[in-house]
Amino acid sequence: MVIKTPRKKHHIPISKRVKQVSPSGIRKFFDLIASMEGVISLGVGEPDYATPWHIREAAIFSLEKGHTMYTSNQGMPELRQELSRYLRQTHDLEYSPDTDLLITVGVSEALDLAMRAILNPGDEVIIPDPCYVSYDACVFLAGGTPVMVPTSEQNNFEVGAADIEARITDKTRAILIGYPANPTGAVMSREKLSQIADVARHYNLLVISDEIYAKLVYGVEHTCFATLLQMKERTILLNGFSKAYAMTGWRIGYAAADKEIIAHMTKIHQYTMLCAPIMAQEAAIEALKSGGNSVTEMVEDYNRRRMVIVKGLNDIGLSCFEPKGAFYAFPSIRSTGMTSGEFAEKLLMEEKVAVVHGSAFGKCGEGYIRCCYATSLEDIEEALSRMKRFVAKHRRA
Ligand code: PLP
Repeated sequence: MVIKTPRKKHHIPISKRVKQVSPSGIRKFFDLIASMEGVISLGVGEPDYATPWHIREAAIFSLEKGHTMYTSNQGMPELRQELSRYLRQTHDLEYSPDTDLLITVGVSEALDLAMRAILNPGDEVIIPDPCYVSYDACVFLAGGTPVMVPTSEQNNFEVGAADIEARITDKTRAILIGYPANPTGAVMSREKLSQIADVARHYNLLVISDEIYAKLVYGVEHTCFATLLQMKERTILLNGFSKAYAMTGWRIGYAAADKEIIAHMTKIHQYTMLCAPIMAQEAAIEALKSGGNSVTEMVEDYNRRRMVIVKGLNDIGLSCFEPKGAFYAFPSIRSTGMTSGEFAEKLLMEEKVAVVHGSAFGKCGEGYIRCCYATSLEDIEEALSRMKRFVAKHRRA
């Protein structure tokens, strides 16, 4: 007979792995801001624009037609065809709409699926530090081990191929990168990415490339990792509509990869998500077909704001590396002697300006804050003048 010991009365079973993950440093902070008045937020990384009208209209029209059902697990065939055409046109890459593309609930879901599809317990994934808050958490939650590679302002926050190579072990399965980068705004050149591709080829590693900010570049070219020599077959390309088309709330993204990988990612998606929302898929078709001009206008505007914020931060004594992509400035706050956490908290309490402490993005983010400039010029200017007062007050003697 099996002896069953009753659990303690209030025992709530929680996975040990989940317990070990800290809640996102960003979200905690923003719950606090929501309860305050008069705050200027350079915090959350999302466009201040509403989705372009023609894209919203496409979704409204689809609702009017009664398109309110589930779609194919992999995503609407018309969207996959449009995406396939788009990837051919922009990157000269051939992805079959039938087998190589999966429509997901944002890049967030695609990232989680990619990790769960490729990792076995203890497999290692190499990730640059600082990085987007979900990268190491997704690897860890999928049973893997994140292996962080430090990057620094001196190297323009680019991850070096030699630094990656130095961290490869028998357990390494993949490299997870995202350029243009959140939180630094760094963009890597084709030449430097090719050096990473050489390492991936040599050690037979997969590369998960999160290119959600691909369209948000200023005076430089974005390189799609899958276009590098023999990289298409070993890259899981992740992208979405949230940032470029100002569609964060629609929750729509995609993965493009070898059919074997997509088939396994689709299995997880099919049992856990079923499909991305149909309205968002209809909107995404319109975005791909005719969203180009709207994106160009928004990028021009972000560029103007980028120049104002970078100059403004440097002028007030927070030296700021020039971001070439995304919509974040990542100034150093070392001159104040505060940690990034102290800086962000005091700035919010004393001057009602919200920024994200750099340590939320990894150890190498300490000493920096992330300021999102996808907000109006007026707010950026007011935030800068409040920060100027704050920095003058707290400057080390
Ligand atoms: N990847 C990066 C680098 C991000 O910065 C974000 C959001 O901030 C995401 C992915 C999440 O994107 P999505 O809205 O498509 O889930």
